[in-house]
Order: sequence, then structure tokens, then C-alpha cells
Amino acid sequence: MAFRDDPSRSGIESHVVDCLIIGGGPAGLTAAIYLSRFLLRVILIDAGNSRAASIPRTHNHAGFPDGIAGGDLLIRMRSQAIQFGTQILDGMVERLEGEGGAFLAYGDHGCLAARTVLLATGVVNNRPSMPETIHDDALARGLLRYCPICDAYEIRDRRIAVLGNAEHGEREALFLRSYSADVTLVSPDGAVLDQGCADRLAQAGVITIPGPCSTIGIDRDRIHLTLPQGTLSFDVLYPALGSVIRSERAADVGAALSDEGCLIVDAHQRTSVPGLYAAGDVVLGLDQISHAMGDGGVAATTIRNDLAHRSPRYCATARSSPALDSAFPS
Ligand SMILES: Cc1cc2nc3c(=O)[nH]c(=O)nc-3n(C[C@H](O)[C@H](O)[C@H](O)COP(=O)(O)OP(=O)(O)OC[C@H]3O[C@@H](n4cnc5c(N)ncnc54)[C@H](O)[C@@H]3O)c2cc1C
Repeated sequence: MAFRDDPSRSGIESHVVDCLIIGGGPAGLTAAIYLSRFLLRVILIDAGNSRAASIPRTHNHAGFPDGIAGGDLLIRMRSQAIQFGTQILDGMVERLEGEGGAFLAYGDHGCLAARTVLLATGVVNNRPSMPETIHDDALARGLLRYCPICDAYEIRDRRIAVLGNAEHGEREALFLRSYSADVTLVSPDGAVLDQGCADRLAQAGVITIPGPCSTIGIDRDRIHLTLPQGTLSFDVLYPALGSVIRSERAADVGAALSDEGCLIVDAHQRTSVPGLYAAGDVVLGLDQISHAMGDGGVAATTIRNDLAHRSPRYCATARSSPALDSAFPS
């Protein structure tokens, strides 16, 4: 498969977008705003499951001293990207093929051809075992939280539980200990902590309970964990159960991944596959909105400069805006 890099945009060239962005969270949307303002032809496909959408109100995002709901931030970013010319499609990219200036993406919208692809597909937190409606209610009311870096400030001196084992639980419990003297680490499955881990937690004043935790329930302002020892109630529960990295489309084209499955990129967000870039949580790094946005801006600028290096037509003003349908070769 190869597309001609022909300035005349004739034939199949007219169907090829300059950049396909997969994922419409803070990383993908920031890149979309930049790329559209670079006068490039951009399509963003989003499955609509941004982690940012589940933030009841973020208070650590710069520029919003009174906080902003994650959903509202996404709506603002989406409309900004559309305003500058990004075409946003709701749906899933199921498969990616190609490399170096000729990618094909297959999914809900058929087949889309792109010169470059930016993966901004994020991660999914592993959830504790509990009914979805109770989970979502607890999350909306701040009884259940996933990001101590983001919101531990809001629960200073409260009674905090962390649900997790040594791998993720120890780090999270120790971090939270600097916000409250009352932190308990509960094992979801009854796993026993190794001695070193148990000693470090004890030294820091973190209570450890082996579990297993059979049910999680809530009332108006407390969250309750049912354990063999009885039911314990807390002001807030942080699951520390790890996450699933959404790097499947990178694996499709053989991009290098870390042991955890995160995309490995250079300082300019290039992956190991020419023409494929990555930004946000899917890349190894700090999983935060500010970081995702920074990655998105860097990736977009690299994409623009790499395209300009590849073809002189990206250095001359001649923006075409073909109809959306023409991006999909029949
Ligand atoms: C409860 C909670 C609270 C948080 N609070 C804060 C906070 O206060 N401050 C802060 O800075 N950070 C916070 N975070 C973290 C923040 O939400 C993430 O760091 C940020 O959303 C990452 O942005 P992203 O664009 O990389 O990924 P995401 O926002 O997760 O977006 C990825 C998008 O890609 C889509 N996608 C995935 N695969 C495909 C595919 N194959 N085809 C099409 N689309 C696909 C997904 O559906 C999703 O919409 C919080 C996270 C959670 C869960």
C-alpha cells in the first residue's frame, strides 16, 4: 500500500487526511486544535469514553480557580477544535494498518486513509467489583475517587480507604498519608503483603487489612466495605487496582510498547513507527489533563513539521476542505 505524495491531490490523494487522531480526550482534542490551526486536514474519531468525562469537578486544572467539570471541559475543547476545522466522528477505530505516510484505519466509519496517525486513546481504570449504578453514584458524589494527585487536597484529614495490593496500593496509601492520619489499605482479594511492604506502611502509620472485600455500598455520605472482620465505613475510597492501557491500535502496526503496554515515544511524541505519534495517558508518564494537553501540543507541532519536511506543499497556503465523505474511499 502506498499513496503518492503528489501536490496536485489527484486520485486517491484527495481522500487522504493529513492526520487521523484516534481518541477525543484532552490529548486528542488539544492536538486537533493545533493541527487545524496549522491548516491541516484533520479527522478525530472518538469512542466517547474519556476518563476526563468522569471527573465531577477538577480543581487542579490551571485557569479554573473554581474548578470545572470534566465533561464541560471536553465540550469546550470539542467546540474549539470544530471551530478551527477538525471533523469529529463518534465511533471506534477497530484496526490500523500501514506505516510511514500511508495508514488505513478501519472501524465504525468504514476505511479512512491518513498520512499520519496520532494515538490519544488513554487508559481505563480497573474498577472494584460493585454494581455500575452504585459505582457511578459514588464517583459523582466524591465517595469514590481514582486520582489522589488530582483530588486528595479536597479530602484532607478525612477517613480514607485504599483498595489494592502491594503493587499499586502501597504507593497510593503512602501518598494519601500526607493528607490524612487515617488511611487504611484493604486488600480486595485477601492477598498478604510481603514483610517489607507491611513494615513501610506500618512505619508510616497506614493501617492494613487483608480482606477480601466482598461488597461495597454507600449511604448519603459514607462508603462501606464488607470484610470478614465486619463492615468498615470511610469518607472516601480510592481503588488502586491498576489500569488497562488502550494501545491496541499501536500493537496493530508493531509500535514499541513498555512492559505495561504504554506507547514508547521520543521527546517529540514520535513512536517507533514512522508517521505514528502518541499523546496523553496512553504514553508512559504522568496521567493528568495538563500532561495530556502538553503531549497533544507537542505531537501536533511535530506532525506538522514532519509533514512539511516530507512535502513542500505543507509550506504553502492552499488549504482545501473537501467534504467529509471524500475522506472515505469507496
Ligand atoms: C475519576 C477521575 C478523576 C480525575 N481527575 C483529574 C483531575 O482533577 N485533574 C487531572 O489533571 N486529571 C484528572 N484525571 C485524569 C485525566 O482524566 C486523564 O489524565 C485525561 O483524561 C487523559 O487524557 P487522554 O486524552 O490521554 O485520555 P482520555 O481522556 O481517557 O481519552 C481517550 C479517548 O480515546 C477514546 N478511544 C480509545 N480507544 C479508541 C479507539 N480505538 N477508537 C476511538 N476512540 C478511542 C476513548 O473512548 C476516550 O474518549 C482524572 C481521572 C479520573 C478517572
